[in-house]
Amino acid sequence: MSAEAESYYSATAHPWPTQPLLRGELRVDVAVVGAGLTGLSAALELAQLGYKVAVLEAQQVGWGGSGRSGGQIIAGWGCDQSKLVALLGREDAKRLFDWSVEAVELIHQRRQQHAIDCDWRPGHAHVPLKPRQVSELRHWQDDLQRNYGYHTQWWSREQLGEQLASNRYLGALFDANSGHLHPLNYTLGVAKAAREAGVQIYERSAVTKLDSGSRPLLHCEHGRVQADSVVLAGNALLSGVSATVENRVMPVGTYIAATPPLGEARAKSLIGNDMAVADINWALDYFRLSADHRLLFGGRASYSALQPPGLRATMLRRMRAVFPQLADVDFEYLWGGFLAITMNRAPDFGRIDGNIYYAQGYSGHGMAVSGLAGRVIAEAIAGQAERLDVFQRIRHRPFPGGKYLRMPLLATAMAWYKLRDALF
Ligand SMILES: Cc1cc2nc3c(=O)[nH]c(=O)nc-3n(C[C@H](O)[C@H](O)[C@H](O)COP(=O)(O)OP(=O)(O)OC[C@H]3O[C@@H](n4cnc5c(N)ncnc54)[C@H](O)[C@@H]3O)c2cc1C
Repeated sequence: MSAEAESYYSATAHPWPTQPLLRGELRVDVAVVGAGLTGLSAALELAQLGYKVAVLEAQQVGWGGSGRSGGQIIAGWGCDQSKLVALLGREDAKRLFDWSVEAVELIHQRRQQHAIDCDWRPGHAHVPLKPRQVSELRHWQDDLQRNYGYHTQWWSREQLGEQLASNRYLGALFDANSGHLHPLNYTLGVAKAAREAGVQIYERSAVTKLDSGSRPLLHCEHGRVQADSVVLAGNALLSGVSATVENRVMPVGTYIAATPPLGEARAKSLIGNDMAVADINWALDYFRLSADHRLLFGGRASYSALQPPGLRATMLRRMRAVFPQLADVDFEYLWGGFLAITMNRAPDFGRIDGNIYYAQGYSGHGMAVSGLAGRVIAEAIAGQAERLDVFQRIRHRPFPGGKYLRMPLLATAMAWYKLRDALF
């Protein structure tokens, strides 16, 4: 995993003042572990409600998925709605879908309210590669319209061809409400808003131990924080703090590459309407243009902590399979990150020991709903736990094999799904 490599996002990030290291003893109402969108959103909402909040971040704000992602902002969750219906019943599955739409709206509210400059562009297309996937997407569209009142458009192959210069796909499910943004600049914008609301953010302050109790205590190398409530928002990167929470998700490595600027005309010749695109394979390709006219191309999951061999060549081959016209274009940036998946791919939000809250396992689909998760946790801490209670009804199982065996077991399962994508 080239976690330390500079990404296109860090190279184009808005200035952000380094936050202090935690030193000594601190007493707050709520301590948040992790300065990604889950933790920052919870911290912002809580500070707005009058709570004294500290955020402890192991590296720097936006270090995790929130600052490295594809930036695709998509209504819905990491699993199909049918899965949520099976887990929760139709009524609560509908509420979850509506809350995912609220999550997209929350991004717009925050962008406007806090003047966050993050290159928002509307429009997202899910694209099928096989006839089976055309049927799946058409069924999905019908379900969204009929049962969730959510309107999307079906585009034929010819209609898609008017916007996307690739003949790889058989059509598109286009959602005008979803879109894409610069994830790190959005995350930094939320962090700035949180600071302005009074949140204390500490960077390079990894939490190494959590003592639970009526006043949980968080230990860092140079200091400790005592709080009435704790929010664990480390997601895929949380390690050694709470086995109960960590064993419920599996970290999966995924990679993105950015071409050099292609120039406006060439970039527009690839994606005319500037939408984000994702196929629906298990190991999917997802791509979009940046504000400075690069192609950002994501894909290639890995179920080990190591960067896959030949990553650059694989990514180039995948990009050129979509856009053969980019045969002369190499990548300027290539980076990776970890996302967290759950066994059933449904989100995992909850509370343990009465005052330790967590949200994780967005299963590759967390850019929007992590913000909602922070809001739901803030509501619960403030005494309104109705929404958290709905999420807590989703049954999750820890990954079999615990910390050391879950990776190989998942790799085997994923190999099967990839084979299925290749064959049918
Ligand atoms: C390469 C990539 C592409 C993606 N693309 C998309 C996409 O296009 N659309 C989409 O919806 N989702 C995407 N995702 C998923 C999305 O980024 C995540 O679901 C979302 O950002 C999760 O936010 P978070 O705040 O929960 O976690 P993170 O953003 O990962 O933040 C967790 C933070 O906690 C910190 N931390 C962990 N442990 C500790 C500790 N012990 N002490 C202190 N701090 C700690 C970490 O350093 C990190 O900063 C992608 C993810 C990756 C990695």
